[in-house]
Amino acid sequence: MAENGKSATEKVPAVANPLSEQPSEIASNINYHAQFSPHFSPFKFEPEQAFFATAESVRDRLVKQWNETFLHYHKVDPKQTYYLSMEYLQGRALTNAIGNLDIQNAYAEALNKLGHELEEIAEQEKDAALGNGGLGRLASCFLDSMATLNLPAWGYGLRYKYGLFKQLITKQGQEEIAEDWLEKFSPWEVVRHDIVFPVRFFGSIEINPDGSRKWVGGEVVQALAYDVPIPGYKTKNTISLRLWEAKGRAEDFNLFQFNDGQYESAAQLHSRAQQICAVLYPGDATEDGKLLRLKQQFFLCSASLQDIILRFKERRSGKGSWKWSEFPSKVAVQLNDTHPTLAIPELMRLLMDDERLGWDEAWDVTTRTIAYTNHTVLPEALEKWSQPVMWKLLPRHMEIIEEIDKRFLAMINATRPDLEHKLPTMRVLDHNPQKPVVRMANLCVVSAHTVNGVAQLHSDILKAELFADYVSIWPTKFQNKTNGITPRRWLRFCSPKLSNIITKWLKTDQWLTNLDLLSGLREFADNADFQDEWASAKMANKQRLAQYILLVTGVSIDPNSLFDIQVKRIHEYKRQLLNILGAIYRYKKLKEMSPELRKNTTSRTIMIGGKAFATYTNAKRIVKLVNDVGAVVNNDPEVNSYLKVVFVPNYNVSVAEMLIPGSELSQHISTAGMEASGTSNMKFALNGCLIIGTLDGANVEIREEIGEENFFLFGARADEVPQLRKDRENGLFKPDPRFEEAKQFIRSGAFGSYDYNPLLDSLEGNSGYGRGDYFLVGHDFPGYMDAQARVDEAYKDRKKWLKMSILSTAGSGKFSSDRTIAQYAKEIWNIEECQVP
Ligand code: PLP
Repeated sequence: MAENGKSATEKVPAVANPLSEQPSEIASNINYHAQFSPHFSPFKFEPEQAFFATAESVRDRLVKQWNETFLHYHKVDPKQTYYLSMEYLQGRALTNAIGNLDIQNAYAEALNKLGHELEEIAEQEKDAALGNGGLGRLASCFLDSMATLNLPAWGYGLRYKYGLFKQLITKQGQEEIAEDWLEKFSPWEVVRHDIVFPVRFFGSIEINPDGSRKWVGGEVVQALAYDVPIPGYKTKNTISLRLWEAKGRAEDFNLFQFNDGQYESAAQLHSRAQQICAVLYPGDATEDGKLLRLKQQFFLCSASLQDIILRFKERRSGKGSWKWSEFPSKVAVQLNDTHPTLAIPELMRLLMDDERLGWDEAWDVTTRTIAYTNHTVLPEALEKWSQPVMWKLLPRHMEIIEEIDKRFLAMINATRPDLEHKLPTMRVLDHNPQKPVVRMANLCVVSAHTVNGVAQLHSDILKAELFADYVSIWPTKFQNKTNGITPRRWLRFCSPKLSNIITKWLKTDQWLTNLDLLSGLREFADNADFQDEWASAKMANKQRLAQYILLVTGVSIDPNSLFDIQVKRIHEYKRQLLNILGAIYRYKKLKEMSPELRKNTTSRTIMIGGKAFATYTNAKRIVKLVNDVGAVVNNDPEVNSYLKVVFVPNYNVSVAEMLIPGSELSQHISTAGMEASGTSNMKFALNGCLIIGTLDGANVEIREEIGEENFFLFGARADEVPQLRKDRENGLFKPDPRFEEAKQFIRSGAFGSYDYNPLLDSLEGNSGYGRGDYFLVGHDFPGYMDAQARVDEAYKDRKKWLKMSILSTAGSGKFSSDRTIAQYAKEIWNIEECQVP
């Protein structure tokens, strides 16, 4: 018996049907795991142990569905998609799994029988944060939609021991500490000791007598599969996220050295193998860091492709004679950004060197199999790998890449002499003698059958700018696939109250798989009863959020104030600096106002959250500034009932699930043309939160869908940005006095003695990207302040605000990842649904 009197053993018998939906049998199954999955003492059944036992009982169900799905696919042998991504931001899985299985109520009841609350148990789970931000969360939303749409598709990634760092806020600002999500094991993964592939690094090339080539020597590590089941919503289909872990081979452990007392060198290869999956995005300032990142990328690509090829062969065997040319009619590989680009030369190598195909046949198979999604136009994020590093680590792949480059060059010379002068930027290889590199995006464009952007504006920019020169060669290669989000996690499960109201008024819950049905809410947008219910659900979410903020920051916030949120990675282009400068100006004006006038203002709680990359100094200064401003404003009794500024620490998926439902205004204020899509904008809009934003990324489409009158727009358009930057360089920019006042206020020391001059200087003169205020904070500041004034006015009119909020949700149908994935399936992958009977 545990000290708190809860014991798993006494309440219910131990053996039950693991698939029953009866609460008492579910309780038995949880109890069974508490006793017989030997992770904890069976005499303890506190929330943490209860979480693991509950998760394991859910996993039993998933494993069954998953095996059935796998067998069904094997039998039907449909074309299957493999999504390769270096990042997945899965977050927590328990609520999502039982929600998708549609057994929440039974689980809640079962846990009650065992003396626990489901919500409390769910909060015990650690986030699986195997990603950075939007790109990784997109991959996770896509998996949910692939499963829900019964598509034969699954994901491949890496099983990082330490995912994205945990952010601590101290007096110095952000501090990073390792986040050990596997500390007490993950109940969701199943290690597959039968699925292991060798992955080679370094070595050399041998030429066989027939002229074919073979990559030999170097060091070899094992890729071991860990499978995470991904259930679809209300379907049996349960797909797989296969995460690879790197292990040393037994034969590489030097027993002789070990027995000789040379422990470290005996295990050298093993510890090098362990480094591969140790952390997400190891620092790459050093040569070793760069090599490690490249190793990670290759490790994912090689293990995944060996697995894909093996599965293809297994499914073909017994089907009479088959040809490699059938491979692209059975396999689609999607590259989530350029991180898995090495899949291209690796597939070529496997086909040529192992399967003995000739270049032309291997190239035909590879190019018909692989498609590429671009996620950024930011120059610093377009990957370029040093040629010498590549030759060292992957000599055979460099040979293949050279050949791809050579053939591309020959093709242009032969067929498009008009493009010859563009070759220096179009080629895959950049032979700049100071810094010869491989341009990964160019390799993708030259090799993939389809290239897509992630929002209409971004896809248009790709065609008009970044990849413009290729468009005339391959006019049909370029597509748009506007991102989406899963409405299950991002509305149904994170905001059950609002979801229930939607279901009640639409008289159906079909909107959960057909999000366009939300448009049916438009007819109730003015209905007083509906508005009241809407407002009370939003208020409950705001109260829950206020409690959370108090818990994690100690700051008490007023649920009657306007909850204004900006959460995303901290980056100068995302312009958290614009937000905080606006807050500073607001604070200064509130201070200067008479108490009478203050009473007429709209009270606001501004929340900002996000992680800054550990070596990104200006981003870290922004985090510090937000915290310093909060410390002053929140403790100023004169104004703190009208304004609070809160930095929300350690932003991750589960924090997002708390913040987004409680939001009323959210900021998506990047410099136009720089945010490829954004996905949190969609999550906020879906939750009835109004957006203040620029015409950037998917904001453009969100505004179209929800109506321009429901969107607080400001700022330069993408097509104006280049000229505005030139104007600045030529001294033609005249800053708004309000902007100058806000900066001066910081320089005066109003928020402490920290030296913010370098940050403020980046908004002036010649700094930042080589030119002052590259992100046009100064240019957009007055428009931003005016838009914020419109927000304040709109919020005073409760009915109007509620109507706008309802119309935001009603207009969000397009942004379901089900729509996005259905388009990928039809227009890029050419796969069809394959439902488990
Ligand atoms: N990080 C986390 C934890 C998220 O949940 C999301 C999206 O919801 C993002 C980052 C991406 O945010 P944005 O689209 O604002 O860049």
